[in-house]
Amino acid sequence: MIAGHFGLAAGVKAGETAAPLWALMLATVWLDIVFVPLVLLGVESIENAPGTSGGYGNVVIHADYTHSLVGALLLAGVFAAVAAVWWRTRVALVLGAVVFSHWLLDLVVHRADMPVLPGNAGDLPLLGLGLWRVPAASVAVELLLVLTGSWLYWRAARRAEAAGPPPRPRANRLGALALGAGVLTLVVDAFIG
Ligand SMILES: [Zn+2]
Repeated sequence: MIAGHFGLAAGVKAGETAAPLWALMLATVWLDIVFVPLVLLGVESIENAPGTSGGYGNVVIHADYTHSLVGALLLAGVFAAVAAVWWRTRVALVLGAVVFSHWLLDLVVHRADMPVLPGNAGDLPLLGLGLWRVPAASVAVELLLVLTGSWLYWRAARRAEAAGPPPRPRANRLGALALGAGVLTLVVDAFIG
């Protein structure tokens, strides 16, 4: 679920044009970006799901801090607070919400491996609806997010152009680029894992 997160970011860009696309893209995968150094430090980890040999969706992710409900809310809050230094409050809040949207989308696909509290404190039930168990369904959901997000983005870009001057032919090309990048990520995601 990388392509799906990017698709959502493209869709949000259509509605909140003041938020830079790069910042939305960064926000949408922020939890996974923080996850990487924690994996290197051995604090969080990823392993093949039992009875599988890994690959797309066949993983159990022990991201007990970055992907805990409370941890994700905290990371979203920090992201929004930093964003508020550069952009107006509304844009910062949208970026924070996009950071948290990552957790919600992951909740749909992850097997039950997402804790409520950081470090799985209190041993509460782990969360995850497990759509990854049905790869065709989760790929379809990701593709839908990419196509919907790209379409919204493309439509908003066309409107901005129609509202001209100044003409911005760049916007259409950017929309096509976002769609291409989204589909490419999905293909890489699906076949390499
Ligand atoms: Zn994630």
